Parts: sequence; C-alpha cells; structure tokens
Amino acid sequence: VASFEVSKIKAKVFPPDPSGVCIYCGAKGKVFSREHIIPSGLGGGLILLQASCESCRKITQTFETTCLRKDMFSFRYHFDLIKHKYEIPDTVPLHLLAQGLGEVKYIPPKTNPNFLVLPFIHRPPGMISGGVPGQISPITLQVFGNTAELKAQLEQQGQLHDIRNLFNLQAFVRMLAKIAHSFLAGELGLKNFKPELPQLILDDRCILGNYLVGNWTGDSTPPSNPKTLHQLGWAPMRWGNQWVAVVRIRLFAGCGPTPIYSIVAGAISREIQQRHSLPD
Ligand SMILES: [Zn+2]
Repeated sequence: VASFEVSKIKAKVFPPDPSGVCIYCGAKGKVFSREHIIPSGLGGGLILLQASCESCRKITQTFETTCLRKDMFSFRYHFDLIKHKYEIPDTVPLHLLAQGLGEVKYIPPKTNPNFLVLPFIHRPPGMISGGVPGQISPITLQVFGNTAELKAQLEQQGQLHDIRNLFNLQAFVRMLAKIAHSFLAGELGLKNFKPELPQLILDDRCILGNYLVGNWTGDSTPPSNPKTLHQLGWAPMRWGNQWVAVVRIRLFAGCGPTPIYSIVAGAISREIQQRHSLPD
C-alpha cells in the first residue's frame, strides 16, 4: 500500500459528477438524488450530490434499511443516531436460543441492551488475494458495545443470545460496496476508475461479494479523535500491470477493535496513477 488517508467523517459535500450519469447504473438524463455515502442513519455527513437515479435509490435504500433498522437498530438507538421517530417501534425482537431452537421475545427498545453485531471476514477480497468469483470467505460474527448489559439481560431471560438471526450478511456486504463506490466516485470522479462494484450493489444475487469485499490486512490505526464514528479512506494497490483503488472502511471505529474491511472499487486511470506518483 503506497499511501493511506483516513478521514474522519464530518460534513463534506462532493459536487455532482461531471459525467451527468447515475453513479450506479450509468443512466443518463434522469432526475438524480443526493447520495449519503455513509447512510445518514449511521451519522455520516458525507454527501455526493445528484448521484443516484430513482430505481437505484430504491435498491440501495432496501438493503440499507435492513442493515439499519434490523441489524444495527439497538446500537443506533442507544447512540442517538435515529433521526425519525417513526423508525422507533414499540417493541424490538430479542433473539434467544433455547435448547438449540431459536426463540424471539419482544421487549421495549429502552430495555434492549446496547449492542452491535459486526462480521469479521477472514480473507482479503478474492480479486487481490488469488481467489475467484463465487468463493466464500469464512466469517465470524462478533458482538460489540455494552456486552455486560447484554449478558445481564440474557441471564435474566435465562437463555442464550442467538446472533445468527441478527445479521443479514448479504445486505451488509452490499452496503459496504455502496459506501466504497460512492466514496470513490466523490473522491476521484467516475472517469478516473473502472467501477467493479455496481453489479454487487444492484443485484442481490451477485456472487462477487467475497471477490470484491474482504478484510483489511494493512495497518489498523485506531482513531486519533475519540469523537470519530467511522473511518474511511482509499489506497492504490498493485494488481497485475494495473493499479486498483482499495477502499478501507471501519464502521463504529470508536467502539473498540471493530473489523476493518477492504473493498476493491476498480482500476484507476493513468491520471490518478501519475497524480500519486505510482510506477508503471
Ligand atoms: Zn441508476
């Protein structure tokens, strides 16, 4: 890795891409909506203007809603990241495991423990580590947040937590792909990289998940500012006779040693290669 920029997430607005197309499907001549690069429900203030056509917006909204309102609800609730009251239901499910069988109890959000489940993917993206499309990387789900509170709650319920039910991996991987692609579109502009991620973002049956998304094996620099929510950056990486842009994402960076993902966004243009003084 030649260089790495870790930018703290704060309000930043990228201008519309000069190409005038949807950054996901390439459609021209439509009405485009702004893209929150990190979903606004995760507290991200990074915005790319006039980025997404209506049909792509609906697709990205669907998997982001799954991640935010189901998998990450408890954590967002306790961290005051929920802006709209209608997002807060009267009760939330607490998934339990009793004698090998899953069981769900419904409890008020206030009494739901503050926790977050995140997957560790145990391989770098297949594309840069000799893998092939369709190959599945091993993953481990880990609980972050107030695990003591979670344990106490579960002891009171007398059962074990079943985190398998608490995570939609496909939706999460597509959300990472969306963050990486829209971030690079804002940072470099669409003409400066050959996008690899749109198919994974737009097609829920796409098998490129572990080919383009994996763990980060480089530095694990923790946030220097305790107010940092997430970390996001990109680095050029050698791939055959080209350079590809690899986006590094660490969500909830302030909550302990959360996983760091690398996402291959695509080969960069010669102009970007020269701008970063990368050899041929
Ligand atoms: Zn589109």
